[in-house]
Amino acid sequence: MIPFRYERAEDADGAVALAAEPAAKFLGGGTNLVDLMRLGVEMPELLVDVTRLAHDRVEETAAGGLSIGAAVRNSDLAAHPLVRERYPVVSAALLAGASGQLRNLATTGGNLLQRTRCLYFQDVTKPCNKREPRSGCPAREGEHRNLAVLGWSEHCVATHPSDFAVALAALDAVVHTSRRSLPLVELHRLPGDEPSRDTVLEHGELVVSVELPPLPFARRSHYVKVRERASFSFAVVSVAAALDVADGVVADVRLALGGVAHKPWRATLAEEALRGAPATESSFAAAADAELEQARPLRDNAYKLPLARNLIVDTLRELAR
Ligand SMILES: Cc1cc2nc3c(=O)[nH]c(=O)nc-3n(C[C@H](O)[C@H](O)[C@H](O)COP(=O)(O)OP(=O)(O)OC[C@H]3O[C@@H](n4cnc5c(N)ncnc54)[C@H](O)[C@@H]3O)c2cc1C
Ligand code: SF4
Repeated sequence: MIPFRYERAEDADGAVALAAEPAAKFLGGGTNLVDLMRLGVEMPELLVDVTRLAHDRVEETAAGGLSIGAAVRNSDLAAHPLVRERYPVVSAALLAGASGQLRNLATTGGNLLQRTRCLYFQDVTKPCNKREPRSGCPAREGEHRNLAVLGWSEHCVATHPSDFAVALAALDAVVHTSRRSLPLVELHRLPGDEPSRDTVLEHGELVVSVELPPLPFARRSHYVKVRERASFSFAVVSVAAALDVADGVVADVRLALGGVAHKPWRATLAEEALRGAPATESSFAAAADAELEQARPLRDNAYKLPLARNLIVDTLRELAR
């Protein structure tokens, strides 16, 4: 690890001012950033600790939703009574990630901005367009069993690792930063020809909070994740869903997929197919097909398509019960 300096910001303005330095990075729980520094993937010269800022609370908004401070720890958020009651998909997604000890440290802001687990990205002896622009993408022809089937480009086929972000994508969450507010689904990017940029955030832009809008039927929501091990393992495919059924018909639905793309994948085509359709297994399967038709599997990851289809159908069937 190369030497670096550490500063603890007292407030958001102070944090932003400190992070204006070109080689500065914000430090949340450090559970991803510090690992990447040990590997030589990230080499900040200054870490600006933002875990002591006042953004450490979950509060009700005037509109009837919830505001989640960027410094709220993943464990605290998953256990929060209002989150469990109104947005169980958020609790389930957080609890499906990492381990108890990691969740005690990991923050809301850091979780959203954690970086891909593509093996080549984490190995500085290998080329990787995300780590070193224009060096190549060995995953295209190499190890890509767990990488993207949707939205990838010839420059990068990585997936986004956060479970939490998938739940937030389904719920139309809004991210508030030191400069602007934007829908969560617009925070993360598809790789295009600039895979080194995971998100639309600019250097030194601080995530301050995440807002969950009111969504009464999200009380009936869930997150289901397929992974290679029962814990400490990232999603192969995951589904975040909320379903509103009235008289046997889908009145409304929210659906997002994880483990399939460079960003949490909001399944808008499936949602369109479902609204007004009978809440039956065949509707759920047709909706999954409508979404997955646009998938382009790589040589070794076509198995993700039937997996995603079955997971969508199972999750919606459970919610419709
Ligand atoms: C063994 C292991 C297994 C894991 N399994 C899973 C899993 O299954 N699912 C899952 O979702 N996650 C998993 N994780 C990842 C874990 O959830 C993340 O490491 C964690 O959420 C990152 O949060 P943090 O606060 O520690 O971020 P940090 O490591 O501190 O920061 C991550 C990034 O966010 C930036 N950042 C932090 N806060 C802010 C802010 N307020 N504004 C702007 N930028 C900010 C940092 O500069 C850095 O670039 C796993 C991690 C490990 C080590
Ligand atoms: S998939 Fe993306 S992160 Fe992985 S090697 Fe290719 S460019 Fe790098």
